[in-house]
Amino acid sequence: MAELAGQVALVTGASSGIGRHLAQGLAGRGMVVAGIARSGDILAGAMAKVAKDTGARTLAVSADVTDRASVEQAVARVTAELGNVDLLINNAGLIDAAEVPLWEADPDQWWDVVASHVKGAFLLCRAVVPWMLLRNQGRIVNIASGQSVRVTPVYSAYGVAKTGLMRITEALDASLEGSDVTAFDLAPGVIDTPMTRAMSIWQGKTDWTPPEKVVEFVAAIARGELDRWSGRLVRVGADDPAVLAGMTPEDDVRRLRLRPYGPDDPLG
Ligand code: NAP
Repeated sequence: MAELAGQVALVTGASSGIGRHLAQGLAGRGMVVAGIARSGDILAGAMAKVAKDTGARTLAVSADVTDRASVEQAVARVTAELGNVDLLINNAGLIDAAEVPLWEADPDQWWDVVASHVKGAFLLCRAVVPWMLLRNQGRIVNIASGQSVRVTPVYSAYGVAKTGLMRITEALDASLEGSDVTAFDLAPGVIDTPMTRAMSIWQGKTDWTPPEKVVEFVAAIARGELDRWSGRLVRVGADDPAVLAGMTPEDDVRRLRLRPYGPDDPLG
């Protein structure tokens, strides 16, 4: 299957979990795939396996997405070796190490979690979007979560990070208006990965979302079928990409908004 042949994807967090599945699935659909993660050897092994399994061209670039110089160098290398990025997937990120209320969290780890999702996506967009705009072509997928819009008593850094990431998507979409470059929040469902295995709320879970469903959704975005949903949240498992493709979302559906208390609410 080479439905996306010729397109270049850049996937952060490609050494593990969802990022690893996306690298494999997009390469299997004909994309050239670059992966970023901090762990050089694990990432290199993962991307080499993707290339071997699919015959696609891959590139592993070890980088910390929260480090500006590393991100700039990584994107420069991807562009020089593979060409312009058509699809940027901001997937890399951490979860709160301890399941505790906000005030009991370790301050450094709390901030690392926020930075991994928010600063990481910001730096990647900062490095990639200008090139997309030059070609008036490109799509950005920010990996969201149920916790982008729902509160839990623990995982406060993760909730802050994922909500902030949604606002990055909306800000991108607003600034990109008039261009053909689009940006999406994609909540992946609940995938069996090292991250979810470490979370007590998922202990004993058996009905995981199949990772191939995430790949199918991202492939639909890469084909441009969901461009009308730019700036909004879509959810694997709950949404059918074929149904969304036939709809034009109106107003503020699937965006972050304050609900008014009634028709006279001055903040409505
Ligand atoms: P995972 O298996 O723990 O993978 C996380 C990936 O991010 C790894 O490749 C990791 O590699 C990389 N990473 C973390 N910090 C990084 C940094 N500073 N710089 C570069 N790479 C970094 O987790 P996952 O479950 O696949 O999650 C992937 C994404 O999906 C995350 O954004 C997560 O919040 C989101 N998500 C997951 C689920 C789910 O059900 N699994 C649900 C909702 C949302 P290194 O450690 O080598 O850097």
